[in-house]
Amino acid sequence: MIVLVINAGSSSLKYQLIDMNSGAVLVKGICEKIGLKDSFIKHECADADKVKKDISMPDHKVAMKEVLALLVDPAIGIISSLDEISAVGHRIVHGGEKFKGSVLIDDQVMKVIEDCVEIAPLHNPPNITGINACMETLPNVPMVAVFDTAFHQTIPEHAYLYGLPYKYYEKYKVRRYGFHGTSHKYVSNRAAELLGKPASELKIVSCHLGNGSSICAVKNGVSVDTSMGFTPLEGVPMGTRSGSIDPALIKYLMEKENLSITEIDNLLNKQSGALGISGVSSDFRDIEDAAMEGNARCQLVLDIFCYRIRQYIGSYAAAMGGLDAVVFTAGIGENSPELRAQIVEGLAFMGIKIDMDKNACRGKEVNVSTADAVVQTFVIPTNEELVIAMDTVQVLG
Ligand code: ADP
Repeated sequence: MIVLVINAGSSSLKYQLIDMNSGAVLVKGICEKIGLKDSFIKHECADADKVKKDISMPDHKVAMKEVLALLVDPAIGIISSLDEISAVGHRIVHGGEKFKGSVLIDDQVMKVIEDCVEIAPLHNPPNITGINACMETLPNVPMVAVFDTAFHQTIPEHAYLYGLPYKYYEKYKVRRYGFHGTSHKYVSNRAAELLGKPASELKIVSCHLGNGSSICAVKNGVSVDTSMGFTPLEGVPMGTRSGSIDPALIKYLMEKENLSITEIDNLLNKQSGALGISGVSSDFRDIEDAAMEGNARCQLVLDIFCYRIRQYIGSYAAAMGGLDAVVFTAGIGENSPELRAQIVEGLAFMGIKIDMDKNACRGKEVNVSTADAVVQTFVIPTNEELVIAMDTVQVLG
């Protein structure tokens, strides 16, 4: 069974074709700058050279058509006919409170995803565009929606409600939703497998550290708390996002700087975090390099980032009443031994101890703990596409 996984962003469309019998990724690629003049596709087949094609893609529907054409292209394609695609799994950012798991997409499901645009105006519209483009180009193939928020629907009320008047939860569903759910689910399950114990007996803190970062407390196999909230702005400071701040700062800064609502929103989402503090870059590679060369502001970014994550690890261990494992994943978590070491510095009192030699790894599944560590620390590359494909198969039975 071959499953196509689609992750549609505002100007990009990532795809993977996965053979579910072997688990092999047959093709992966990305259409970038959709809607702009210089749009292109990068297409990577398992056994062939990468192809980069500059191609005009005014919208997602054209992008989808180009992707499908590449998949069956006799020169670089991997399947001979689109009939070989049994199903499509779509990554959908926000499923609100309606979806506790993945679902087959029908008119009713589309309506709910559209209703969630109000609470995810940046993320759900491109996801919907991706589904529509796919439905037009592959009308007879079943499509499944896999939500970033679904894994967090097990978070209890006392952890998801904010200290705001309750009526806003009733009227507008204002609450913590959490994101990166497929990633937290995948790496926490892998950690359980690596520990040789059922997830239902474990307490795990999963740290997804990328351009966007979130921390998740996974108790007995389910999410019980996570750092991102109503939107992906809450939590630790990120590449360009502030993370949690005193909400009173919004009024204060708006008045002082004469900012509109749109401007303050842009400041918090696009000009803050690593970029805003350092003035150098939003990319943690650049920040680490500059810090090494003596840039104090970049060192400060790293210190703030690591401190906040360390606080989450401690608070989630308290929230779960114990801790068996910490997992690092995504761009930074998988690739930065230095930041992993700095994050867990001083946590030996909780049983977290990492071995510097084992920790000198990048992008590989490794238990980086010392032999006498009570809590195991893992590096586990995330694989959201595989989770989406597996959920798709499961939903279709
Ligand atoms: P996204 O949230 O866009 O999926 P990724 O998971 O790809 O993000 O993570 C991107 C982040 O990972 C960037 O800040 C990048 O600098 C960081 N990163 C990638 N490789 C390294 C590395 N070797 N050392 C430190 N940070 C890295």
